[in-house]
Amino acid sequence: MRDNEFTRILDWPGYRVFRHEIDETAKTLRLWVRRKRGNRKLICSGCGRKFGDAHDYYQREVRDLPWRKYRTTVIIELYRVCCPECGVRVEKVPQLPSKAPFSKDFEDAVGLACESASVRQVARQFGLAASTVRAIDLRYLKRWSATRRKDRLEQMGVDEIYFGKQMKFITVVSNLETGEPLWFGQDRKQETLDEFFRTQLSETQRKRIAAACVDMWRPFTNSIAQWAVNCRIVYDKFHVLQHANKAIDEVREGGVLPQRWAHARCSEGQTLAAVDALDESRPAKTPAAKRAVRPQSAGDESLPLKGKLGALVDLPL
Ligand SMILES: [Zn+2]
Repeated sequence: MRDNEFTRILDWPGYRVFRHEIDETAKTLRLWVRRKRGNRKLICSGCGRKFGDAHDYYQREVRDLPWRKYRTTVIIELYRVCCPECGVRVEKVPQLPSKAPFSKDFEDAVGLACESASVRQVARQFGLAASTVRAIDLRYLKRWSATRRKDRLEQMGVDEIYFGKQMKFITVVSNLETGEPLWFGQDRKQETLDEFFRTQLSETQRKRIAAACVDMWRPFTNSIAQWAVNCRIVYDKFHVLQHANKAIDEVREGGVLPQRWAHARCSEGQTLAAVDALDESRPAKTPAAKRAVRPQSAGDESLPLKGKLGALVDLPL
């Protein structure tokens, strides 16, 4: 096979193979590539400025997609430019997305494999360390995220997730129409959600948000009121009931309301969570929070909130 045939199969836009080496024992293929004539626009990798002249050049080795059973390495001639802004910088080459020794096509193949298999499996498939696969996948997802078309955000969901003792809480912002998580922030303070509005959305995008579903957490509602002026706040039914349950528990534990009476009062339209909270077989000293956070059954989701809630919060506190 001649070098120009290697060039055609390799298909790196703007580059040609000028030397190749096949090792039949080791099953390796090495291809040396350089710019095609006429492809002399050098781009500074720091600022994107274009240059006609190079400062110097060097060779870099990256792993590329395999050719049949042959592991392929591409050795590329890279130029450095003398940029007035960034100093001496290496040129930007689309096939080399990072400093890691892999081509973009190779990283894309690894990233794609990660979509349907575990990291360990992908690592075995490509003969890489699991940590390398994770790093490649992260870069692949970042590139995908930077170029993909994003749906407009009109109905947002804000939730907090408890991530254990070290991380404590994280805030998750999602698009409720597409069901897609959009952003994660450390902690669950007002500043956390402020950061989302400030860094992720333009003013027009913030104005476009029509509704937000949040739990009854004051810092979140404060942040939304401040940043998304046209946004109406919808409370998550589960959290409303959680608060109602907690109120009942407090009343009961304070001894203000006889247990039997509370039970009777609620039985006309109660939720499963409320029934359990009032269950006499449970020890009365169980902390209120523990009982209130148990998940509701699927059937309970369909119960209309109106009326039921009235029965619960209407207690003469
Ligand atoms: Zn530059």
